[in-house]
Amino acid sequence: MTPFKNIIGQETAKKILLRSYDKNRLASTYLFYGPDGVGKWAVAIALTALVNCLESLKDSDGKTTDACGECANCRQILNLTFGEFYPAIPLPPHKSDSEAIELLNEIIQQKKKEPYSILSSKRQTTISIKTARDIKRKAAIMAPPDTTRVIFFYQMEKMLTSSADSLLKLIEEPPPNTIIILTARDPDNLLATIQSRSQKIAFKPIKPERIEEYLIGRFDLTEKQAGLLARLSEGSIGRAINLIGDDESPVRQVAFLMFKTLIQKDTPSAVATINDLINPRNRGETEQVLLNWQSFLADIIQIKFGKDSKNIINLDLFSELEILSTKFADSNGFSKFVAHFDEFNSSFRLNVHIRPAITALVFNLRKYLNQSS
Ligand SMILES: [Zn+2]
Repeated sequence: MTPFKNIIGQETAKKILLRSYDKNRLASTYLFYGPDGVGKWAVAIALTALVNCLESLKDSDGKTTDACGECANCRQILNLTFGEFYPAIPLPPHKSDSEAIELLNEIIQQKKKEPYSILSSKRQTTISIKTARDIKRKAAIMAPPDTTRVIFFYQMEKMLTSSADSLLKLIEEPPPNTIIILTARDPDNLLATIQSRSQKIAFKPIKPERIEEYLIGRFDLTEKQAGLLARLSEGSIGRAINLIGDDESPVRQVAFLMFKTLIQKDTPSAVATINDLINPRNRGETEQVLLNWQSFLADIIQIKFGKDSKNIINLDLFSELEILSTKFADSNGFSKFVAHFDEFNSSFRLNVHIRPAITALVFNLRKYLNQSS
């Protein structure tokens, strides 16, 4: 499939970009904003293909509908090997340039395989000042003729303010034949000066039916499993993917460890372990952990009351979840546990302090468990 056609949802974003392209009025800097895992990366790649495609597709009215996906440029772009695509991606701490290149390549491979995947790291990630400088230096050299260079700052909020400040001039007066794409969850996390110089495009949560369709097409899931994941994902394909059991989802492993502790250990050790494992500076990661807990709970509900184990999401954890489900002998306590957790989940985003909020949650949930063992 061709790059724009491949994108799930985000009709408004696609329309704006295709129209502007036809009118020859593309902005020099875009800011794609919205939740993680809804397609900001995929649209950035599609736009890079569109502006460099040698045989873009048109409808009967002569309006451009997509990049071809097959010309030499499109192929390199979709392979993420295009020489004039400069990605700046937040990386965990590293000791050398070669380690940074290795980390970057890992991410590029992950995104090539699954453009909706959410980058996760146990360590704090940043776009370094060095990356910002390197890109500024490269941008100063003219782009080759007939090429549109794309400078792509992914998760711009993970750049230090001082580094971002040093890019203002580049954003203010971009070199010819260059498009700058920034992405962020929330534009208000960026410098006002950067916001005001970019054209903002909002990315919306995706409809559960579309997510379900996508999951079924890509993973070995039953309709019910995909449907449940889609509903849990709050409109983010990336989150839904993170909920599927596979070894490439480290957050899920940690989330399960915390969940087991919560249910099996005594209150003080549960609080201590969970406090130790939670990353209080990373709200996105904590949201992922909670989402995973939600999927473990959904499975326990299936184990306790369901009739068909085909609907279990975390099949690889089935035997462990079965053991955990015995800790909820009292069904009244269990329903209170689930209700309290759901309530917490829906208000978590408004909560400023991650660690105290999670500590209180653990204390409250422990009240509904059988304390005898
Ligand atoms: Zn093409």
